[in-house]
Amino acid sequence: MTAPVDRLDIVLLGPPGAGKGTHAVWASQTYGIPHISTGDLLRSQVVALTALGQKAKAFIDRGELVPDALVISMARERLELADAGRGFLLDGFPRNLEQAIALQSMLSDLGRKIVLVFYYNTPSEVIIRRVTGRRIAPSSGRVYNIFNPEFTSKVEGRCDITGEPLVQRPDDNEETIVKRLDVYQKQTASLIEHYRSQALLFEIKGDDPVVSVRQAMSAAILDRCGHAVGKS
Ligand code: ADP
Ligand code: AMP
Repeated sequence: MTAPVDRLDIVLLGPPGAGKGTHAVWASQTYGIPHISTGDLLRSQVVALTALGQKAKAFIDRGELVPDALVISMARERLELADAGRGFLLDGFPRNLEQAIALQSMLSDLGRKIVLVFYYNTPSEVIIRRVTGRRIAPSSGRVYNIFNPEFTSKVEGRCDITGEPLVQRPDDNEETIVKRLDVYQKQTASLIEHYRSQALLFEIKGDDPVVSVRQAMSAAILDRCGHAVGKS
């Protein structure tokens, strides 16, 4: 068996709506490492009306990428926090080659490196339905779906864990998701080959049932990183 790597520095790659956040919540609890979503971080900045949030809002609303300089410094600050010391599940970053190079350099400065990249390969027609049905619980980070019984909350419109009201993201409408998919194809999809060429990529079918996705993820983390479920 592979000797356990010191840190589970894991990147989650795939189009919007591929399931990255959903699987990250599970993997975060399972392996004891934080789920770091640049989309969530940016949305909190928007709500808090910070200078960064005010700059980012228009890009998010249009479904465009927030400028690299802003996102890269935000990601760097987050990755340096103590809770990421044993690893992380990085969701939504990097989203282009410049960000991938910046990530590699910031990790190298910290004496770290990416050990695995999960790529959730998911067809566009599946994504549009998923994203328009997505509802989120802002404080628990849980993700629900009104169209899929496997992902509906027990009490309609309320989070199962916190009871907080579920909300729909303003950018989860059909027009913006079409734009986000286009941005993904043009700017992010090339990272699949980038990470495949470094033998870091592990491809998962994003439209497989959740239980199969979790089995595939835990098998890959054991095989490539030497970490078994519950033994991190
Ligand atoms: P991402 O973080 O990649 O944008 P999410 O994790 O938010 O995607 O998932 C998008 C929507 O699809 C959510 O409403 C979620 O409940 C649903 N979903 C996630 N994974 C699956 C799956 N394997 N099968 C069906 N629906 C899923
Ligand atoms: P997400 O929650 O990952 O779907 O991201 C929502 C939005 O936040 C995106 O459409 C972008 O506008 C912005 N965003 C999130 N992560 C990044 C990133 N790494 N680079 C640029 N913009 C980002």
